[in-house]
Amino acid sequence: MTSGEEMNSKKLTIWGSTGSIGRQTLDVVDRYPERFEIVSLTAHHNASLLLEQARKFRPRDVVITGGVREGKWEEEFRRLGVKLLRGKDGLLEIAARGGEDLIVNALVGGVGLEPTLMALGAGVPIALANKEVLVMAGELVTMEAEKHGTVLLPVDSEHSAIFQCLQGEENKSIRKILLTASGGPFLKRNKSELSNVTVEEALAHPNWRMGKKVTIDSATLMNKGFEVIEARWLFGIDPDKIEVVIHPQSIIHSMVEFVDGSIKAQMGVPDMRIPISYALAYPERWAGDYGWMDFTKIKRLEFFPPDMEKYPALKLAYRALGMGGTAPAVLSGADEIAVDFFISKKISFPEISQIIGEVLNSHKVILRPDIDDILQAYHWAREVALRQIETNL
Ligand code: MG
Repeated sequence: MTSGEEMNSKKLTIWGSTGSIGRQTLDVVDRYPERFEIVSLTAHHNASLLLEQARKFRPRDVVITGGVREGKWEEEFRRLGVKLLRGKDGLLEIAARGGEDLIVNALVGGVGLEPTLMALGAGVPIALANKEVLVMAGELVTMEAEKHGTVLLPVDSEHSAIFQCLQGEENKSIRKILLTASGGPFLKRNKSELSNVTVEEALAHPNWRMGKKVTIDSATLMNKGFEVIEARWLFGIDPDKIEVVIHPQSIIHSMVEFVDGSIKAQMGVPDMRIPISYALAYPERWAGDYGWMDFTKIKRLEFFPPDMEKYPALKLAYRALGMGGTAPAVLSGADEIAVDFFISKKISFPEISQIIGEVLNSHKVILRPDIDDILQAYHWAREVALRQIETNL
């Protein structure tokens, strides 16, 4: 900033501010208080953390989307001078309102789709951590952003890496995207050992600090499958040009190979606050101390092809992408239910992918779907997955 130049603060809203990405976003925001004006914060259940955040960041309003009982919280937020809205309607209301410079969508699951379309419709750029949005409706969402002249900024570390590698490059120069995957906690186990793994083991991710849903998705590699689908839409790349590479150290966050044989890789310590900071600062970079790489201390960087038999979820994601239309929404819906049931210890680890595969098999794809087709397919998949699990219990 040159002297005399006014620094405009960014009007920022965070959907899902009490979750893992939401909290890390506020951690970054807290380092540059003069650069932000928080417009809205939303939480699903964690009303007490939302109140604490509201006290500190003074948003105009907050939304509690989950079934937290009325009464107490209304009074608490009123005392702060913060308006409290409720439920999905509250979320859709603030999404449609517009006026922010950026919205961070850190919601989990398909619930983030409608508010995303509304905010894009209102011309607000979205920093997207809610991967199901592009998995379910990648074509629709990217078209909507284009139509309203606004952008989607990736928050996911892999897509942030690819986005950074592509700065100053043309799409036609891309030969291949190399999407790296840590391989999750079960990298060293064989396929047969996976039937007995526990929820606690699956939740112990070796490198990243993340929410429960995405941690389980990382263990099955469905997360990587979702990321292939996201990359396809974010960067307008054919699926056969997106290759998954297992890289256990999570130092390289992804790479782009260009037509002349050059490869760009983006690296850094595995801390989500770095890609979050990039999305918040874009097109600038802001100084931050999230830990620094010491290359002399890295013993090795390893790379393996993924074992598709051991990780059938990854294969299912490629298949859903190939089927097109509503198939990825079905993948997403079935996965949410299967992961929930695994976390509550009702099904085994391999059954997660089994159930998703069965639901996908019984789906009749609708090509070129509209938003209603997509939501219908998503809810249908959740119901079928639920029925499937309950008949087997
Ligand atoms: Mg990721």
